[in-house]
Amino acid sequence: MIVHLKKSVSLEEAEKLAAKYKSALFENGSLVMVTPSKLKAADEELQKYAEQVFVTDTDIQLAGKQYLKTKREVNLGKVAIGGNTNNCVAITGPCSVESEEQIEAAAKLCVELGVTILRAGAYKPRTSPYTFRGLGLEGLKLLAKMRDKYGLQVITEVRDSTHADEVIEYADIIQIGAKSMYDHGILNKCGKTKKPVLLKRGFGTTLQEFVQAAEFILSGGNPNVILCERGIRTFETKTRFTLDLCGAAWLKEYTNLPIILDPSHAIGYAYGVPDLARACVAMGIDGVLIETHPNPKVALSDADQQLNFDEYRALHSSLKKVADAIGYKIV
Ligand code: PEP
Ligand code: MN
Repeated sequence: MIVHLKKSVSLEEAEKLAAKYKSALFENGSLVMVTPSKLKAADEELQKYAEQVFVTDTDIQLAGKQYLKTKREVNLGKVAIGGNTNNCVAITGPCSVESEEQIEAAAKLCVELGVTILRAGAYKPRTSPYTFRGLGLEGLKLLAKMRDKYGLQVITEVRDSTHADEVIEYADIIQIGAKSMYDHGILNKCGKTKKPVLLKRGFGTTLQEFVQAAEFILSGGNPNVILCERGIRTFETKTRFTLDLCGAAWLKEYTNLPIILDPSHAIGYAYGVPDLARACVAMGIDGVLIETHPNPKVALSDADQQLNFDEYRALHSSLKKVADAIGYKIV
């Protein structure tokens, strides 16, 4: 149950109530308390303090349509998604920041195409310890340089909570990777900032678990959460993962959070990314994240799936037509 407390309730009173009802408490304009979902009605005491009460079926509470019927709008600096915008944001860049020359080439591609968000990882969560794990702080600084030089917004991922503060400081949008989705150190820190957070679905995670991870950020007090489906593990081995478009439809129907799809990590091979990206945009989603590299063959991570710049130029132009056909706009 979500309880919007009356303006007259002090923080001290709210904290006592939250302890009594084993609830999360945060402030976002007014004080909001979130009880376990098994509580289905406000008792007499709670009613005294409550301005508004929302009953929910499961622990998908702040993220659910039972709470907010319309999708949340999230401001991404130069563009907004969700709400009534019908915007589908294009996010692109390499898997990892590898050098100034490489990330600058990607930044220039963004500027050329009117893409406002540059992506690249500085702290890479790799499957093998013997592979490139990112430039770390140096990578964050290069991204910040691109932001300042080209007026872009940058998104980069937190690998673990040891450098979460650093990433939160440097990034405009914080990405939580599929392998880090359950890291409570990261989730809690992301709940304490107001910067937008792109939460990727773990590849072995149910939709319920995925959205519950988002609840940790929302109930920490950060309303700017975006969900990202990036492929789940199935019995199929010909593709890297399986992009769960059924899951995306479910998220659209039952949650109030913007949804971005990532066809690059899902299929894992560049040949399939354009078709898959068009299918994603045709669903009416809030954004599409696509990995690009000036020379994918020599990429230090995810080499097989990154598009070269000409491939991305062609794809970007076709995505505009698909979006247009369903009343959306690529921004
Ligand atoms: C990435 O975006 O480069 C990445 C590592 O993605 P994921 O967390 O989805 O594997
Ligand atoms: Mn990658």
